[in-house]
Amino acid sequence: MQFITQSGGSIGPIGQGTWYLGEKPHFFQQELAALQTGIDAGMNLIDTAEMYGGGAAEKLVGEAIRGYDREKLYLVSKVFPYNAGRKNIFQSCENSLRRMNTDYMDLYLLHWRGSIPFAETAECMEELKERGLIRDWGVSNLDADDMEELFRIPGGESCRTDQILYHLGSRGIEFDLLPLLQKKDISVMAYCPLAQAGRLRQGLMESPAVREIAQTHGATPAQVLLAFLLSKPGVIPIPRTGKASHTLENAGAARLTLTGEELAALDAAFPAPKHKTPLDMQ
Ligand code: NAP
Repeated sequence: MQFITQSGGSIGPIGQGTWYLGEKPHFFQQELAALQTGIDAGMNLIDTAEMYGGGAAEKLVGEAIRGYDREKLYLVSKVFPYNAGRKNIFQSCENSLRRMNTDYMDLYLLHWRGSIPFAETAECMEELKERGLIRDWGVSNLDADDMEELFRIPGGESCRTDQILYHLGSRGIEFDLLPLLQKKDISVMAYCPLAQAGRLRQGLMESPAVREIAQTHGATPAQVLLAFLLSKPGVIPIPRTGKASHTLENAGAARLTLTGEELAALDAAFPAPKHKTPLDMQ
């Protein structure tokens, strides 16, 4: 598995999402095992948020990382837009750290744009860095015009990541946002990389193009969707699963390299728009 360097840490090419995990006591052990299976398989980036289950997902992460070398993990959490200002962000960050059983976050993201000015959020993020509570900061759900605005404010260029919805069936970012982020060397965390198991784009998992490629490689449609994202420089997919078998399947996608012909077949079946489209969100 090839690791990427960011914030002084190494990140496996595929991370783990946690939305909806940790919320149901009945599934807690199973979900814990799924995350730990991922860490063992090299998926050391875990993405969570104060929003997920009102902190329940962060608590699950805190349990999952017990016993692991913290320096080898890459933990990402997100702050609600209304907490992303001087009044609340420091407390929010500390609450997240406490729930995750850790004393620093590798990356802290503004979950989406709210009414607090970027300049205030960026200043607070830099202060969190100075205090050692976070190593880096980034944003989520920001489109190209928002990113350009962020770059113009003091400290805005320190943004390391934009976490955005990106999957084979939703390729609007390829028109302008992805090239912009690649040019600025800002990593793209692709959320909903499996289109929520196809729910966000009917027919995606079952499409003949995806199935044929999967069959050629002895792989699964989910692995083809992840391999498609891995073919784009600077993109880190963060699939979520509560099942260890699916975690292993997702980790295995890092070993799948699609040929130029296969990528062309996916382009033909799911073309990227040739004009500006609004950022897709969940
Ligand atoms: P996703 O990862 O595209 O899809 C999750 C679904 O796929 C689950 O139903 C899961 O079910 C299933 N699945 C996982 N692996 C599979 C496999 N190998 N084969 C078949 N099904 C599989 O969707 P997501 O959870 O919405 O997005 C991923 C992560 O991105 C989130 O968990 C969260 O961390 C982040 N996110 C961020 C934002 C944001 O605003 N920044 C928004 C949405 C998501 P099983 O449990 O049954 O495997």
